[in-house]
Amino acid sequence: MKKHNFSAGPCILPQEVLKKASEAVINFNNLDLSLIEISHRSADFVAVMEHAKDLVLELLDLKDKGYSALFLQGGASLEFLMVPYNLLPEGGKAGYLDTGTWSSKAIKEAKLLGDIEVIASSKDANYNYIPKNYAIPSDLAYVHCTSNNTIFGTQIKNFPKTDTLLVCDMSSDIFSRKLDFSQFDLIYAGAQKNMGPAGTTLVVVKDEILGKTGRKIPSMLDYQVHIAKDSMFNTPAVFPVYVSMLTLEWLKSLGGIEAIEKINEEKANILYQEIDTNPLFQGVAKKEDRSNMNVTFILTDESKKEKFDSTWKAAGISGINGHRSVGGYRASIYNAMPLESVQVLVNIMKAL
Ligand SMILES: *Cc1c(COP(=O)(O)O)cnc(C)c1O
Repeated sequence: MKKHNFSAGPCILPQEVLKKASEAVINFNNLDLSLIEISHRSADFVAVMEHAKDLVLELLDLKDKGYSALFLQGGASLEFLMVPYNLLPEGGKAGYLDTGTWSSKAIKEAKLLGDIEVIASSKDANYNYIPKNYAIPSDLAYVHCTSNNTIFGTQIKNFPKTDTLLVCDMSSDIFSRKLDFSQFDLIYAGAQKNMGPAGTTLVVVKDEILGKTGRKIPSMLDYQVHIAKDSMFNTPAVFPVYVSMLTLEWLKSLGGIEAIEKINEEKANILYQEIDTNPLFQGVAKKEDRSNMNVTFILTDESKKEKFDSTWKAAGISGINGHRSVGGYRASIYNAMPLESVQVLVNIMKAL
């Protein structure tokens, strides 16, 4: 039997997607060739890339609104550098919200290219909350935030309001909840948290914001180069793009983001309900800032640890150990995680 996969990343993917993907590795589109051995310039693969980009804009409701979707490489980690390269003028300043490990890594890279102001930080409490009521300086080229803090289990509910550009790392909650995505000028997400396998990064960018910094940008780091070449400036990660396309088709067939958001809320609610009512458990993140994707919690009675760990392992649960910087447990309940798996975990917590 397949395990209940609560891994924070790479993530669980829908079973039907894995089946279709495995078939395409052997024989893609009845070509009697594998998806991963045909030219990325063949009509069959170009159609995959175009359909994947189209689905992204459709699901985010950003079609015909001046945005391009790109499938790049280098992970969200390379976007930490590409964003300032493309948006921060020489001598310019950008503002960052420091809400966790990934935010601070984004800040570190951006500092290589300019003046970075940390607008607000929750480092003082090991990132267990989202800062609020901070002032945003008026002289910024852009504001950068991280919508969901994968390691600490917090999620931004109210995004910064700013007249300047708004950039968001949505690696671990993209396509999970309904937002007005047009409030963002640039969104990026490593595929492997909520969209597909590792190896490709989604970037959704408003075309008109690019080409304005006066910087010389290396081709591979230049969004305009990738847009002009339809994400084929170099050989794209054909398999991760294909699996992402299948996952987005799956999401669309379920009813899109609105439908999955309801299911995600239901999953998170039953788990948080148990954490809040069972005296043996305690949530890590501040209630109002809790993530519906990564649920972090601890045991209040360490003497129960052995029993709890052996019970969930025996029930086929995998991947709920917390990140080393937080400890305890982290149940990642991304889009493809079935409600039934969450129920298995909750039942074990109840019976402890
Ligand atoms: C995992 C993660 C990253 C890093 O992604 P890579 O693709 O491994 O570079 C960045 N930001 C967030 C929010 C993440 O969860």
